[in-house]
Amino acid sequence: SVQTSYEKVSKIQSEAMFHRAKQVIPGGVSANIKYFAPHPIIMKSAEGSQLVDVDGNTYIDYLLCYGALITGHGHQQVVKATTDYMHKIGTTIFGTPHELEVTMADKLTALYPGIDMVRYTNSGLEATLLAIRMATAYTGKKKIGKFEGHYHGGYNHVLVSVNPDQKESGNEEEPNIVPESKGIPAHELKQTIVLPFNNIEATERLLRKHAHELAAIIMEPVQGGFIPAEQDFIVRLRELTSELDILLIFDEVKTGFRVHLGGAQSVYQIEPDLTALGKVLGGGFPVGAVGGKREIMMISAPTSDSDIFSVGGASRAKNDVVFHSGTYNGHPIVLAAGLETILLLEQDGCMEDLFMKTDMLRKKLEKLYHTYEIPMQTVGMGSIFNIVLTNHSIRNYRDMWQADTNLRHKIDIELLNLGVYIKPLNRYSMSIVHSEENINQTVIAHEKAIKNVLN
Ligand code: PLP
Repeated sequence: SVQTSYEKVSKIQSEAMFHRAKQVIPGGVSANIKYFAPHPIIMKSAEGSQLVDVDGNTYIDYLLCYGALITGHGHQQVVKATTDYMHKIGTTIFGTPHELEVTMADKLTALYPGIDMVRYTNSGLEATLLAIRMATAYTGKKKIGKFEGHYHGGYNHVLVSVNPDQKESGNEEEPNIVPESKGIPAHELKQTIVLPFNNIEATERLLRKHAHELAAIIMEPVQGGFIPAEQDFIVRLRELTSELDILLIFDEVKTGFRVHLGGAQSVYQIEPDLTALGKVLGGGFPVGAVGGKREIMMISAPTSDSDIFSVGGASRAKNDVVFHSGTYNGHPIVLAAGLETILLLEQDGCMEDLFMKTDMLRKKLEKLYHTYEIPMQTVGMGSIFNIVLTNHSIRNYRDMWQADTNLRHKIDIELLNLGVYIKPLNRYSMSIVHSEENINQTVIAHEKAIKNVLN
């Protein structure tokens, strides 16, 4: 069982530290998703593709901070660019406009077809929140549409139907609005229409029904970073949203720089109206950004002092401008790390090599599981994939119900004892420093995990 498997590898320090953590941090974790039973593993250091825990166990890391660390842990060039830049500017942050904000915005407008202008935030959550506010202000409509199973950050009206169970989620043609947290007021749930991913007939019906009140549709073009939108589906969705005056927001927090340097929009060759970015963009530091069409982005632009007024020292935008602020927005050190990360990814053959290694791991794992006659497929795009234990085709959230998550969870816990770090049931992200040797070690660990679990 899950409880006993840790007995094989010493996790004594981890357990003790987690016990301490629980006294002063609810659940012992700084984000609910970082928890898993019997206790999360507390890390001490990291390098390249490797994590080291407080008991001295090492792991090949495929969580990579939920995908953010595409250059691995502590890439020398990223660390150097960051520390050099801090010394060069003589501070950690200006608190004023500065050059790297423009350099990064130039980069993003060049790479992302749907981005003419950029605003920075400190997280992916803030980016989707800002995109939604911009869309609501721009269209004058109140509601948003989101797809079942898609995650856009942990705030009220998008924290619905991310992970509903079979009983709660209702009919696929018109999914229920299922809150994913206590404390979400009922009136906020009413702001959201839940749509079925990769089901264009039902989506079209719902869009036409609610077009008068829908400001925007927000979506992960690749659900959870691993279930791709079908090309026909996403093309038709773009046509419909344009026809019905609904903005289309691509949440590329996971897919940005990971499925293509220019995100999923470059793969699908579709221009969303607004794009949310995060994760890789900060090179391992907290970041987010909203980019989009000039006309929409300009809704947040103060153009005279009268667009801002000061109350008790706080600056606020007048009602005709979308208010957007953040003490740390456009943080120079974060942008230095992000720019260096992008420069590394832009080197000749870098993305191709990353995708090739990811494919290699996927193929080897598929072959292995099939040798053991376990129904299994890998599902993903670019440098992200997931292991799904079913032969049923995976096109949306509901298809995932067919998967054997019990077996997958047991294997993941075994993997933690065998030196492969994946948060149980999470997706795999690859970095540019994962080696072929890492891949082979990972496949060997999977084989041992499978044997341990099946025996
Ligand atoms: N949107 C997507 C698609 C994400 O995957 C995430 C985080 O996992 C977010 C938004 C929220 O980003 P953050 O955790 O930086 O707030």
